[in-house]
Amino acid sequence: MDPKYAVLIQCQIAKNRCSGFACTNAFYNRDEMFKDYPPSTKYIAFTCGGCCGKGTAAKLEHFTKKLAKAEGCQK
Ligand code: SF4
Repeated sequence: MDPKYAVLIQCQIAKNRCSGFACTNAFYNRDEMFKDYPPSTKYIAFTCGGCCGKGTAAKLEHFTKKLAKAEGCQK
């Protein structure tokens, strides 16, 4: 079975004042919008990299490369 990840991308501006506690806690407690996620789902969070948000694409590309290498997943 392919590993499943919940990938949270946070606004860089918001991240300057937000620890990400609520989102992370909600994921691990499977609260609200995370309630249907299987227990085996992994969690990763990163920021957009700042305005204009172009860093998101590079980070997602990096994530998919690492995921493919580590887990043998394909895009
Ligand atoms: S692009 Fe700018 S406003 Fe949009 S999420 Fe990123 S930091 Fe926030």
